[in-house]
Amino acid sequence: MAKLPIITLPDPMLRKLSKPVESVDEELRRLADDMLETMYAAPGVGLAAIQVGVPRRLVVLDVADEEKPQPLVLFNPEIVTLSSQTRVHDEGCLSIPDFRVEIERPASLTLRYVDRDGVPREMDADGLLATAIQHEINHLDGKLIIDFLSPLKRDMVVRKFKKQARATT
Ligand SMILES: [Zn+2]
Repeated sequence: MAKLPIITLPDPMLRKLSKPVESVDEELRRLADDMLETMYAAPGVGLAAIQVGVPRRLVVLDVADEEKPQPLVLFNPEIVTLSSQTRVHDEGCLSIPDFRVEIERPASLTLRYVDRDGVPREMDADGLLATAIQHEINHLDGKLIIDFLSPLKRDMVVRKFKKQARATT
């Protein structure tokens, strides 16, 4: 396995729409494993392929305790149902370092996806996992947590990251 570089704001790649995976092959499995290693090292609870520069519909997640890892590999994740009940979480993003924002999202959901072995599956999720799944699926559609801010606040955050990018290059 290998750790991959994570792209950050304001990289325009983060706004790209990710394409579905047609079949899970060795190369995609290796990518998923590398993404898990990258996510654990960051550390984070979720990572979308687009965040390592690959515009395919693949996300990895693990919201479990460090002692008992429960890695999840989701190809073509698709939300089937969302609860009307909501949950607020102070979300961060590995592509937007040192930034957090409280976001209200549906508290539980049912998800359809293809697993690491290429088998179609369905699962229910709630709590942090439900939040993280919605956050990562947003990435596949080019949507970021700063999009939940008012346009004025969003511009302020983007400007800050553009400034930082200029200062470090
Ligand atoms: Zn993110």
